[in-house]
Amino acid sequence: MAIRIPEEKINEIKQAVDIVDVISDYVQLKKQGRNYFGLCPFHGENTPSFSVSTDKQIFHCFGCGAGGNVFTFVTDIEGISFQEAAEKIAKRGNIELDIEVSRDNIHHHLPKEHSLIIEAHELLAKFYHHLLMNTNEGARALDYLLKRGFTKESIQKFKVGYSLPEWDFAVKFLENRGFTHDLMEKAGLLSIREKDGSYFDRFRDRLMFPLHDSKGRIVAFSARALTEENQPKYLNTPETVLFNKSSLLYNYYNARAHIRRQGNVVLFEGFADVISADSAEVKNCVAVMGTALTEKHIQLLNRLTNSVTLCFDSDSAGAEAAYRSGQMLANYGIEINVVILPDKLDPDDYIRKYGPEKFREHVIGNAQTWMAYKLHYFRKGKNLQNEGEKLWFIEKALVEIGKLENAVERELYLRQLSDEFSLSLEALVEQQSQMNVTREKKQQKNIDQKNINQQNIPQPKTAHKPLAAHLVAERQLLARMLRDEDLAYRIMEMLGDTTFHIDEHQAILTYLFGYYEEGKSPDPSLFLNYLPDKKLRAIVSEIEMLAINHEYSEKELNDYVSHVLKHPKLLMIKEKQAEQKAAERKNDFAKAVEIAKEIIELRKSL
Ligand SMILES: [Zn+2]
Repeated sequence: MAIRIPEEKINEIKQAVDIVDVISDYVQLKKQGRNYFGLCPFHGENTPSFSVSTDKQIFHCFGCGAGGNVFTFVTDIEGISFQEAAEKIAKRGNIELDIEVSRDNIHHHLPKEHSLIIEAHELLAKFYHHLLMNTNEGARALDYLLKRGFTKESIQKFKVGYSLPEWDFAVKFLENRGFTHDLMEKAGLLSIREKDGSYFDRFRDRLMFPLHDSKGRIVAFSARALTEENQPKYLNTPETVLFNKSSLLYNYYNARAHIRRQGNVVLFEGFADVISADSAEVKNCVAVMGTALTEKHIQLLNRLTNSVTLCFDSDSAGAEAAYRSGQMLANYGIEINVVILPDKLDPDDYIRKYGPEKFREHVIGNAQTWMAYKLHYFRKGKNLQNEGEKLWFIEKALVEIGKLENAVERELYLRQLSDEFSLSLEALVEQQSQMNVTREKKQQKNIDQKNINQQNIPQPKTAHKPLAAHLVAERQLLARMLRDEDLAYRIMEMLGDTTFHIDEHQAILTYLFGYYEEGKSPDPSLFLNYLPDKKLRAIVSEIEMLAINHEYSEKELNDYVSHVLKHPKLLMIKEKQAEQKAAERKNDFAKAVEIAKEIIELRKSL
């Protein structure tokens, strides 16, 4: 890995920040013992296996093996180069970095096609934005936006743009910059005419809203028509290699730090709501892109917070969506609040009608608990004067109230029911406990059934198989060599001609001696910068994360070294034993005896 930033600077940057703070911008971490744990941002998971150590200044995921130091974390999560990551972290630590970070290879780690698609989107977005803000052609579109309550600041912040009513504007624009039509069609920017296979602009005479992925790169557009004739009203980029609406949340990248800081995210149904809310100083908000909430969305959010406020449209589709989304979020143990907007307004309308302050205080600040929302939802469209519907509602409510873990909360809602329907609290409690009995019976049945089914399901492989003795020995030695330069050279002497048997371990060792040869002092976290390969970094971070005791006795050291030395002989014994069996099977007893003697010799030499 080429490091153009001087070594001392890297060291200085590392000293100035704490890896736990930096990672906390992206992942919600909880302290457990000496380390911090959270949901891994590099793979989807529901139970935290991602750990961060302040002492060691490293992170490691026991689920997917991702690991490294603060620089590699930012490099990987942002999808940027080492230099850019260092620059970012330096800024955070208030360290002056007086070198120019090269921006030519900004997406260097991506497949060529992906980086071209991103580049094309970013160039076009810039141009569309320019057309909207500064040209006569864009004046009508800008006027439309301003009349709808968009401010110039938010238009700028969200890089809203305008596409010309021409068939070949983007075609030529992209052509002139060397992008191929074929790739730009795959990227969703151009369409193909069926009759002659020629290309034309997908987006014409529309407001262009760039869509950023979770790393802040523009990967798609949502384009709104300006006239009734131009159908559909919203035209999105189709699904591409980089754009998948079930895993993209509008404004996720920008809102991330606000969500972390406030410990809550406001989820909207439409991106226009996000833009309005943002200008109303509600910055911790995101929106789904014309799709229902998915598991992937929840995983993205759950990395940052476990509190979600749903702010959906107040029509019945919105109420349905809020109920469904809430149920999914509840399965993840996320705390849910739901905003109920008055007068059938959607959030965007509300802000325009009543202003930002009212929106923040009366709407977001007054969100209902999930329980209260469910009761509100069950009531919808029911005539509670009707005996049958009333009983249905009470039963529904009792089931939901029974699920509450907090006894005080349970009683609160039971009292509300009792007041509203003039029923005694005792009667409600009685009915609830009867319902619980039947429900438990049912659940037991389900569990029994599950147990039966599970017998046929192959058990998932455990992430941590017991490690072979020589592997443990090599890791134990590496752990000590990473911390102590003299010891590293001594162990090398003890091993003599024998190398580590695991190729990756040997590779780490080679890099480690290179690192020491350059006169650097032992620092496992900084050493990670020298490993060009993710797999090697994962091993070092795991060794570091697991190693607790860096003290060692001579005896331990000798044991580990001898394990490593013995390993080739043990392998040979195994081979010989197989040969011996084969000889016996062929009734070649003379040969079998010969081999047996060799095995005895080998055993003696151990
Ligand atoms: Zn992971």
